[in-house]
Parts: sequence; C-alpha cells; structure tokens
Amino acid sequence: MEKGSAKKKTAVISIDVEEWYHLEYFDRSKCDESVSVLDGFDSFVELVEKYGIKSTYFIVGELIDSIQDKLKKLHSKGNDIALHSWSHKRPVSLNEGEFIQDMNRSLEEMKKIHSEKCGYRAPCFSLNRDYLNQIINEGFLYDSSRINQEEHPLYTSLDISDFKSVVPNSIYDKGGFKEFEVSTIKFLGLSIPISGGGYLRIIPWPIYSMLFKRYIKNNDHYNLFIHPFELSSKKITTPKETSFLTNFRFNYNRRKVKRRMEKLILLLKKNGFEFKTFKELTR
Ligand SMILES: [Zn+2]
Repeated sequence: MEKGSAKKKTAVISIDVEEWYHLEYFDRSKCDESVSVLDGFDSFVELVEKYGIKSTYFIVGELIDSIQDKLKKLHSKGNDIALHSWSHKRPVSLNEGEFIQDMNRSLEEMKKIHSEKCGYRAPCFSLNRDYLNQIINEGFLYDSSRINQEEHPLYTSLDISDFKSVVPNSIYDKGGFKEFEVSTIKFLGLSIPISGGGYLRIIPWPIYSMLFKRYIKNNDHYNLFIHPFELSSKKITTPKETSFLTNFRFNYNRRKVKRRMEKLILLLKKNGFEFKTFKELTR
C-alpha cells in the first residue's frame, strides 16, 4: 500500500479456472473430459458482476483457447487475467526444465488474451523458492501461491523470508514483485484457511463465518479463491475407483457455495473492505 492508505481494507476475490479432471485427486486418464464444469466459471462471472466486483482469474493455459472470447471481454472490463500453469501439474512434481517449459507455454498462450505482465498461482499452492525465482525472472508481476498451512499434505511452505511485509500475513514485496498469501487464521492450534475453496464447503458454516468475522476484524486484507466445479450445477460421474472420501470432498455442499460467497461479499462490504484485483494491488 502507498503511504496514507495503510488503513484501507482490501479484498481480492479470485477463481482458479480449471476443469474437474485437473484436480490432483482424480486420475485424469480415467476421467470423461467431455463433461465440463465451466458453467461454474460463468456463474462466478455473473456473481461478481452482480456486486460490481472486478476479480482475478487464474487460468489453466490449455483452457484459454476454448474460452478466449469470454476472457478477452473480462480483460477489457478491467479484470485481472493471470495464469494457473499449463495443465495443472504441480510445479514441485516437475523438474526445472519441465517447469520452465510449462510456464513458457502458458505465457505464449496468454498472448491470445493480452500481452501485459501477469500474475501466477501454482496448482495446489505447490511452489518452492527456486521456482518462484523462475517466475520472478520470467517477468511475472506477482505470485499468489503461498499458504501458511503445514497441515496439508500437498501444500509446500514457500520461503519468502527476504521479502518485505507490506500487509502482515497477506502481502509481501521484493523489488516491486508481490507475493499474495492465502488467508488463514489460527484456531485450536491449527492454521485454518478461511479463504474459500473446499474449506468454504466443508467447514461447518457457523464455524467458518465466526472465524471469517474474527479475521476481517483483525486484518486489513482478505483473499478468497474458488473453483468452477464448486459453482457448477453439473453432476459429475467420477472414475469408478474414486474413494468415498474423495467423492465427498469433491461434491459436499457444492450447491451452497454461491450463497456462502454472497454472504462473505456482503460481510466484506459491510466492514469497509474495498474489492481489488491482485494486479491493482501491485500498483
Ligand atoms: Zn488449481
């Protein structure tokens, strides 16, 4: 934040635009890719536009072509169109050469939408410092792959100890490059992401909303992320061998997400939060 606006409270509503078969817990080769959940992407656009909110869209590169008209329109309206890898492979599962190739392929595809510097979010928040350095060197504007949650088996702890904290626990800076951390809150000794995604569906609403209210009272910045499948009305037939627990995690409370997001948006508005895109916050 610039001087004089340190007290301004900001929130970013973002969506990781990916298909259901990109999810780490499904074996993609066994998924029916002809079934799309991108109706959930349209629902997201409708929802944020209803509240006049400009958002950040992290797109899986291989989907850009199929939705390029919609993305161009969103970009022309001032939304932030950023990248979420080429095909949703976790960076830490790739070697350096593969990671650079993945990044460059996505950047090349993004030229169909815009040629500006853009932001990056790693699939499953699985970025390490070496790869963050590649992101910085490649000229990205910001990253939003850091989550302070050691409890999750897939998330990595991204070392940004040499970054300057701009907004505590939320926004960090190194020479103009920004890192936006996913919002978490300590509860019963655990870091609980109160930043949307599956947590918005799975944590019982009375607990989620209590933690959320506590968070926005004590913090100046809030990040929310969601996925198309969570807003999609499609019934997905998952691969036969999918476990009960995975199916539960995938489907539980999907139909409640829209309503819950609206409640969060209204609470943020009521508490004086201003909605921004990540790109706007880099200025
Ligand atoms: Zn993702």
